Amino acid sequence: MSFEYNKINAKCMWCKRTKNPHPDFLKETIPTKIFKTKKGRMIELCFSCFEQEKKSFDDDVFKEKLDHKYETMKLLNL
Ligand SMILES: [Zn+2]
Repeated sequence: MSFEYNKINAKCMWCKRTKNPHPDFLKETIPTKIFKTKKGRMIELCFSCFEQEKKSFDDDVFKEKLDHKYETMKLLNL
């Protein structure tokens, strides 16, 4: 599982963070990774949001969850 470090314009689509939360890397952007959802969306997540989503789910359920959360956020205009 490789996250991209100091990516330009990195932004977690769940928590909306753009800055690296680690105090030693405050000038860097947040490490993120792009995940493809079941419906083919590209969702960019930081490591902590990924860890929360991934808990005890297999890959297929994980991808479905990304779609579900994305659609809920759209509905709520988040
Ligand atoms: Zn996040």
